Amino acid sequence: MKTGAVNKLLMLYIPGMDVRWLATDHTPYIASLFETFPHTTTTSYPSVEQLSTVITGMRPHEHGIWLAKLRPRSRVTPAQRLVDVLPDIVTTTAQCAAHRIAKCCPMGTIPPRRRRKLHFEKMKFYGRANTETLLDELASHGVQDSLLSALGTDRCHYTFTDRFADREWLLRGMGRGCRLEIVQFHALDILGHFYLETPEEFHAYYSEVDEFVRRVHEKCQANGMTMVLLSDHGQERVTRFIDLKGALRALEVAEDDYTIFMESMKARFWFHTDKARQVVTAFLSRSEDGTLVSYQEMHRHHVEFPNADFGEVYFMAHPGAVFFPDDFFHPVVNLYFGLKEWEKRRRLRNPRLRGQHGYLPIYPSEQGFMAVLNRQFMVEGRGMELRDVAPSLLELLAEPIPPFMKGTSRFHR
Ligand SMILES: [Zn+2]
Repeated sequence: MKTGAVNKLLMLYIPGMDVRWLATDHTPYIASLFETFPHTTTTSYPSVEQLSTVITGMRPHEHGIWLAKLRPRSRVTPAQRLVDVLPDIVTTTAQCAAHRIAKCCPMGTIPPRRRRKLHFEKMKFYGRANTETLLDELASHGVQDSLLSALGTDRCHYTFTDRFADREWLLRGMGRGCRLEIVQFHALDILGHFYLETPEEFHAYYSEVDEFVRRVHEKCQANGMTMVLLSDHGQERVTRFIDLKGALRALEVAEDDYTIFMESMKARFWFHTDKARQVVTAFLSRSEDGTLVSYQEMHRHHVEFPNADFGEVYFMAHPGAVFFPDDFFHPVVNLYFGLKEWEKRRRLRNPRLRGQHGYLPIYPSEQGFMAVLNRQFMVEGRGMELRDVAPSLLELLAEPIPPFMKGTSRFHR
């Protein structure tokens, strides 16, 4: 280890912690950290998932995990034709059951005739996860390069939980003695999706997270670790619901003339006829519910796919609006998660999101922050991109930054 470098680093990664909510008296400890230590805002990518970039130091088109990709067209078999005459609710329920039981069939909520046209690249953990789970997940998407490969898996550790009550469990496990520990506390993000409609209640959870941050910081100080606090985005309170599927059905375009994949804040399209392209894009560009963005225009937002494989155009909802129902909604799945996890219990009363993110990164809800709780370091410039997080961590540890990381360190001694 070089002299003056940080010996051990612990990054507490809290997705969805909104910088706008930190300017209140509900988070006195984090406010005091911001007064004392170097920190800067981060800009994310128009997606609900940012871990793939945080862990690899690459933009989405560099690591390739960007949810849905169009498969080359293939002939529909007689068996598939038979399945296609069944009602969607029957086939999607069967697919969701197959996903739950056999862990196969990703995106089971999409009917088979549309699902077989798409290939899915999606990072998602439920419950708890660790280094091994993360490595398996990256490998399943063909990604070998990450912070873990740069440092060596025996020198770092990753822990994930989406359970709010796991704070004590996380604290007990911290201080493993390795060079880099990443602890992803995902529960605040989940709560935001279902509690932003009642800000008073949501504030109370911020207070508990503030106390958790204080205890993690104290544990780091007692163990000679430098702590990093990271949030990758905030969340916008949802006040508008758009029935995009219904609106598209009302257009005079056959369903087979285009393929759509719809998240709640982003719908992507691939067109198979000129007429479909013309009618659908004319409709979307007139809409007041969102912004139509071609894949080339997406380059401005640091998602630079060279072709339309991952989407020819994107219809991005305006902050505070969501498409409902989207391709993730299924009544049985909603019931399952609503009964299983108290963080999502409000889904039972109403399945619609109360908070959302992943909008175009020009909006305040897409800002996060990175703070290095070590006064020997200074932050360079104002604002950073999420792909700069991984090289920044390596710089703090005075470790070489591998060539696959295209970002730069924003924290220097
Ligand atoms: Zn989220």
